[in-house]
Amino acid sequence: QAKQTQRGQLGVYTRQMGLEIQSRVKMLQDLRLSFEHQRLYLHYQPQVSLPDGKPVGCEALIRWRDDQGRYIPPDVFIPLAERSGIIATIGEWVMRTAFSQAHLLHRSGFTRLRMAVNVSVIQFRSGGFLETLDRALLDSGVNPELIELEITESVAMLEADYLLDMLKQIKSRGVQVAIDDFGTGFSSLSYLQRLSIDRLKIDRAFVDQLCESQDSRSIAEMVIELSHSLNLQVIAEGVEEQQQAERLAELGCHEAQGYFYAKPMEADALLRWLMNQEPGNTQRNTSA
Ligand code: C2E
Ligand code: MG
Ligand code: MG
Ligand code: MG
Repeated sequence: QAKQTQRGQLGVYTRQMGLEIQSRVKMLQDLRLSFEHQRLYLHYQPQVSLPDGKPVGCEALIRWRDDQGRYIPPDVFIPLAERSGIIATIGEWVMRTAFSQAHLLHRSGFTRLRMAVNVSVIQFRSGGFLETLDRALLDSGVNPELIELEITESVAMLEADYLLDMLKQIKSRGVQVAIDDFGTGFSSLSYLQRLSIDRLKIDRAFVDQLCESQDSRSIAEMVIELSHSLNLQVIAEGVEEQQQAERLAELGCHEAQGYFYAKPMEADALLRWLMNQEPGNTQRNTSA
């Protein structure tokens, strides 16, 4: 009897796993097709300085609507793309598109606006990454100093010499580097100190509970103080309330990003958003 139940359950599990694998394979096929048919696109979310709320940059975020019009979040399909290797192709497209957009914004008079681009650790560790970066920089014509690459703490698992060298190489091009989702898993602080990075991004999870949870608050405080002592810039992601923005500013956080300021939006909406900011309140160089 017990054995029968067990076997029955096993059957269910196997079928479920089969379905899951099947749907993942299907999703990957859809993703490939969508990419070929240019149905992937980017949204851009503003980043502002604290406490004044002036635009200082934006983050490019990938978007995918499948052929049935369903929105599939990047948290779902990026890991899939990473496992299948198609992330290299998608990642290159993201860089090229975002860099071109950055150059366009620059030509529209927003001469100091940063463009942050998420880079997968898989992409980052692949042999041709620097060449891809260089080509994307060159072809877009953007000033490399306006570009920031966001990498997550998981890069810490890369071989140390490789990582240190990569970051130096990136830095030598003038491109900035931020550690995304910071606070969720960095192992060694002394290691962090050796990395050529510019900015830490406080993970949304800690900002979310900033005013409610003492633990979140302590972690946010710690990351901000760490940034100050390592001479790094620090930005908070996921700011949804004024109170959070005020608290972060009090703690000495330099910049913020989140729904409280603006949601991710299409390129032309971003341009309108930027132009609608108070005249004294933008990085726009009107004399240019
Ligand atoms: P991330 O890089 O940490 O991006 C921030 C995420 O927080 C974005 O989710 C953004 O839409 C969301 N967000 C921003 N402000 C708020 C807020 O105030 N409240 C809440 N609840 N959410 C906020 P999104 O666009 O769904 O992206 C999720 C993740 O997918 C990103 O996290 C990043 O890890 C990855 N991703 C997105 N675009 C790319 C890409 O082009 N390449 C790679 N490799 N990964 C990407
Ligand atoms: Mg990011
Ligand atoms: Mg993040
Ligand atoms: Mg995140």
